[in-house]
Amino acid sequence: MIADSKLVSVVVPSPNHSGKRIYSLTRVSVHCVVGQVYASSLGNMFASAGYEASSNYGVGFDGSIGQYLPESYRSWCTSSYDNDNRAITIEVASDTFEPYRVTEKAYNALIKLLVDICRRNGKKKLIWFGDKSKSLNYQPKSDELVMTVHRWFAANKACPGDYLYNLHPQIAAEVNKQLGGTTVTTAKKTETATLTFNYLALSGYTNVPAQVKMLQRLLRDIQYKGKDGKELTINSKFDANTDYAVRQFQKKNGLTADGIVGAATWKKLTGAK
Ligand SMILES: [Zn+2]
Repeated sequence: MIADSKLVSVVVPSPNHSGKRIYSLTRVSVHCVVGQVYASSLGNMFASAGYEASSNYGVGFDGSIGQYLPESYRSWCTSSYDNDNRAITIEVASDTFEPYRVTEKAYNALIKLLVDICRRNGKKKLIWFGDKSKSLNYQPKSDELVMTVHRWFAANKACPGDYLYNLHPQIAAEVNKQLGGTTVTTAKKTETATLTFNYLALSGYTNVPAQVKMLQRLLRDIQYKGKDGKELTINSKFDANTDYAVRQFQKKNGLTADGIVGAATWKKLTGAK
């Protein structure tokens, strides 16, 4: 798979998709990952068929951009056949707690990526109505892209979190400014997300099921077993088996085998540079 965008630094093909989209590209959906991860780590998750989810692109907390499916493919991202067949989907690394803030680097990378997507696909305008029925009933012109959000399609999802959701008007304005050829010095200062969890520090772990889940999937995919000698159970709990698998991984990789998933372990685990 070759990246569609030159901004992509990592390509990790995902098996989770429905092939080429059956409708033409008229939408874009920005999501939040719930985890301050690298674009490569997100790709590693989506690379697992068992994960049953994907996106076309991912933006890491460090501003790294990953591509997991060609733009012409229908991802499994917004819980909507109708939407995913029309949208390019982008997951953005975010905090694991409300309002699911994203870093300034991630925000700026997202803007760049959106501008690039618009340019290459002949789109001159990014539209954010902020209203579900208006957005879904709108017939976009061939050079328009309508922003839609996951929360409209899944009752149990608050995706994207309020932080990114509330920035949607600003995102559209910023992208349109750049498409219009106006020089933009810097994005309107957004609140910088605090990396409260130093990557996946153990202290934060037990309270962060989404991140433990991610860790378990990564360890399982590279065949690290639990204390019980069995394949790791993806239960989102930092249990004895997970602790054992982490220590084994650390031992094998020349890291301190303390069961604490800090920056070094996380980097090794996700293959991030
Ligand atoms: Zn989402």
